[in-house]
Amino acid sequence: MKIFKFGGASIKDADGIRNVTDIIKANIEKPLLVVVSAMGKTTNLLEKLCDAYFHNDNEKIGIFNKLKEEHLSVAEKLFDNDAAIFDSLHLLFDALEEKITEQPSENYDFEYDSIVSFGELLSTKVVSLYLQYAGVDNLWLDTRKLIRTDNTYREGRVEWEKTQRQIKKILLPHYQQTPMVPILTQGFIAGTSEGLTTTLGREGSDFSAAVFGFSLDAESVTIWKDVDGLLNADPKLFSDTVKLNKIPYREAIELAFYGASIIHPKTLKPLQNKNIPLLVKSFIKPEAEGSVIGDFTFKNMTPCYICKKNQVLISIMSKDFSFIAEDNLSTIFALFAYFGVKINLMQNSAISFSLCVDNKNSINSLIEELQTEFFIKYNTDVELFTIRHYTSKSIDNIIENRSVILEQKNRTTVQFVLRKIEH
Ligand code: ASP
Ligand code: MG
Repeated sequence: MKIFKFGGASIKDADGIRNVTDIIKANIEKPLLVVVSAMGKTTNLLEKLCDAYFHNDNEKIGIFNKLKEEHLSVAEKLFDNDAAIFDSLHLLFDALEEKITEQPSENYDFEYDSIVSFGELLSTKVVSLYLQYAGVDNLWLDTRKLIRTDNTYREGRVEWEKTQRQIKKILLPHYQQTPMVPILTQGFIAGTSEGLTTTLGREGSDFSAAVFGFSLDAESVTIWKDVDGLLNADPKLFSDTVKLNKIPYREAIELAFYGASIIHPKTLKPLQNKNIPLLVKSFIKPEAEGSVIGDFTFKNMTPCYICKKNQVLISIMSKDFSFIAEDNLSTIFALFAYFGVKINLMQNSAISFSLCVDNKNSINSLIEELQTEFFIKYNTDVELFTIRHYTSKSIDNIIENRSVILEQKNRTTVQFVLRKIEH
């Protein structure tokens, strides 16, 4: 059994969907489960729709129409006026339209999941119908009945036992009877035991693929991307990137932790737990080898660069010149947890404690709260650079022409909080 995951970029238009169909076609000699996320930037558009809906803004109609037109225009390029095909898409549009004409509840996150999930429902319908149209029998399943979560909307926590039971119960008989008929389902979305829709957090489709891989003891999970594999840096930020071929799970988890955006951070744990390799391959060059994350022993790694933008460096000092020690630290950490601010780096001296964190809305309230007990200084819009397996040359690459505000180093990793020099 293999699991494939295709992200939004791979199915952003009709040509993309044809290409994905070719890749699936070439791989149906074994049981295959295909997880698909929403087309292109649909999730962002649905987030706007949800905002407008929640605030009773009439803009919602325009956004809804844009979403509908985008999907219909792709479908028109794929199918000759086949009425039955368009009917099944219209069922979904009607359901979404009905939803946004209802009065919203007071729970924004609940409404978010009910609306944003339409991206994956629509994309999987289009892809499944096109596969069929291209002669590939397939079974479309609603993953909200397969992946079970609690009701933490927008960040559903998977109930592993129930999920595994449900997936096995529904999928295994299918593969026993028709092993060559791939199953197509949605990434990112899930359901509660009451049948309500949840999502797994933005970019969560990789994680969905891992949940299926884990539950079905898959032979491998492949994530199809628009890059050649796992690279040592973001090609949008660096020109000379290098592909990493075999990456130990542990190393990949470290890279994800420091902010490498290629794989959703929750994805690796379930795969590592069952020793299932994660392949990262290019949907543009499907024959090329790509990268594999697996149970490898570590060989001298190339320096890997990870940049987190839009960071805030907060320095906390005691008001009475006392040490920042255990009792202070527990108050400080409790406040960060309460405001949901994730700490990316910390460093302390006798009377000062510095933390680099993501810049998010709750940061102002956090700082206000900290100021009642401490002196606070902070720098907004700094960047956090991490180099794994650094060399002196790799460090020069990063800090040249930049002012370093803070630096932290251990044997494998160096981190810099940097501010760009204004010219
Ligand atoms: N469509 C969702 C998002 O854009 C999930 C995913 O792409 O993995 O966040
Ligand atoms: Mg997406």
